[in-house]
Amino acid sequence: MMHSRRDFLQYSALIGASAITAPLAGFAGISQQKKLGVALVGLGGYATRQLAPALQQTQHIELRGIVTGTPSKIPQWVEKYRIPEKNIYNYETFDRIADNKDIDVVYIVLPNSMHAEYTIRAAKAGKHVICEKPMAVNVREGQAMIDACKKAGRQLAIGYRLHYDPFHLEMMRLSREKTFGEVKLVEASDGFRAGDPNQWRLKRALSGGGPLMDVGIYAIQGARYTVGMEPAWVSAQEFPKTDPQKFRDVEESLSWQLHFPNGAIANSFSTYITNVNRLYAAAEKGWFEINNAFGYAGQQGRTSAGPMTFTHINQQAAHMDGVAKAILENRPNNVPGEEGLRDMKVIEAIYASIAAGGKQVKIS
Ligand code: NAD
Repeated sequence: MMHSRRDFLQYSALIGASAITAPLAGFAGISQQKKLGVALVGLGGYATRQLAPALQQTQHIELRGIVTGTPSKIPQWVEKYRIPEKNIYNYETFDRIADNKDIDVVYIVLPNSMHAEYTIRAAKAGKHVICEKPMAVNVREGQAMIDACKKAGRQLAIGYRLHYDPFHLEMMRLSREKTFGEVKLVEASDGFRAGDPNQWRLKRALSGGGPLMDVGIYAIQGARYTVGMEPAWVSAQEFPKTDPQKFRDVEESLSWQLHFPNGAIANSFSTYITNVNRLYAAAEKGWFEINNAFGYAGQQGRTSAGPMTFTHINQQAAHMDGVAKAILENRPNNVPGEEGLRDMKVIEAIYASIAAGGKQVKIS
């Protein structure tokens, strides 16, 4: 709550002059603090190793709550992040978060097939939602999530951290400004060795699919923002499995080609059997690329005119701060549900092309 005129002035300075003229009614129902409070839902690897530490560096959002189905995880989170008892939920009590004024934003970090249910429940509880990628396991669910957040008057943001990374922003700029002319070809691939054969990523009911859902989505993203338009058609191929037992439920490796309305092509590969991680653009008068493109750090950017020399940032902190600032300023965020839905449409078309023996499929 804002307790004093001083708080209000600090708050106004934070959100900028534009918001002073905007009606404060735009913030109705959201606690008017300098920092938004977020609850992480699902305390697995990404929440524990990336998001919670990043939330120690954010300016506009802070960790205030957790939602977990594993009580044994609670003490270490309480100790490390001083989470008060009243801000701790499990999956059964989750909906009571509606009554918790400390929590403005709910961040869904669960297996993919649970994203839609928890996003919709969070929206119904009146919270803004950040949901990890892929936003859902199909287009229908993605649309339902967008609709639920709209109906609740709350923002939906997808965990697309690279939209805040300076190397990727540079790829977008070089494309948009046609620094090397129009982009004609993108090569974008993302894959890694999936170790544990029992992990949810290999179970279709939880993951919705294999490497395409998990990391191939970054190659789709990269192609879309590096060409700078939406693809119209796709053809795709799944490769024979080298370990049919481990990958009995999901694809092991696949490739696809996106066809853009201006004639540009994006050629991509994704896999669970080897590390590959690259975004390359060939334009009319030169090229630009990032190696180690999609990781949390270590991007190496180059263009045909020389190296990209950006300082590496904490992508997760920049992403959550960016989304929080948009919420505080009552304007759309950079990675809305609609952005996630476009990727879901491409993913569905890729699977449809594979099912049709590699035929070209129109992206809806
Ligand atoms: P993880 O396996 O480490 O964590 C998953 C969490 O969900 C665990 O805490 C687990 O207990 C909980 N869970 C609840 N119900 C479950 C069930 N039925 N089966 C399995 N786990 C269940 O996974 P993760 O790597 O943290 O991934 C979580 C989400 O975050 C995924 O959607 C993934 O795509 C996304 N992710 C995004 C990035 C990124 O860079 N943006 C990186 C990693 C993961």
